[in-house]
Amino acid sequence: MVELSRVSKAYPGGVTALREVDLRIGYGELVAVVGPSGSGKSTMLHLVGTLDKPSTGTVRIDGHDVSALSDRQVSTLRARRIGFVFQQFHLASGVPVLDNVADGLLYAGVPRKERRQRAEAALNRVGLGHRLRHRPHELSGGERQRVAIARAVVGEPALLLADEPTGNLDSASGAAVLELLRGLHAAGTTIVIITHDGQIADSLPRQIRMRDGQVVA
Ligand code: ADP
Repeated sequence: MVELSRVSKAYPGGVTALREVDLRIGYGELVAVVGPSGSGKSTMLHLVGTLDKPSTGTVRIDGHDVSALSDRQVSTLRARRIGFVFQQFHLASGVPVLDNVADGLLYAGVPRKERRQRAEAALNRVGLGHRLRHRPHELSGGERQRVAIARAVVGEPALLLADEPTGNLDSASGAAVLELLRGLHAAGTTIVIITHDGQIADSLPRQIRMRDGQVVA
């Protein structure tokens, strides 16, 4: 699903965030990315998510060399194959939950009516079928993150990338979110989770440990 070959990333200003990273993540894996703040975890997740390009090296996602694709092809790959969940939820405020999730299909070329039907199904799947008309500010943090997960998976991505998905949640809500991610993994989705929570990381089948821009274990 993911193959990084000698991937480096330098940001303007002279920070080298990744140094010659080699990494493979197979189809259907559930992986934690751990390491101190500033070690390059988010940078790596952005490259895997095709949100950014490496300075040198090759990023292959689902068999595609990302730098060999046009911008349009990269957008299509991202829209069809990759879902994102962030610590801060990134939901549109003032917009009903149903539409927040339906908008996850905007770039996948799905007609509006079908977008809303699939959004409702995704919200049922995360246990929020009774909250379709609520707006994000009317929901708890845990419920908002479940909406964000519904939005991330409404297009049935093969790869789900989560950056500290439980970072803003109390432990019970965090556990519920993790259960949801485990269920998606059981259904075949490849999942990569950045987490500072050692207990969560220890509970996952594989951990990728980063330090100073390198994978150290
Ligand atoms: P982590 O997710 O492990 O905390 P990051 O990937 O966010 O690490 O950051 C790795 C390094 O790159 C840090 O030194 C950070 O300050 C730097 N960095 C991250 N994003 C940018 C950016 N957009 N511009 C410049 N430097 C950045």
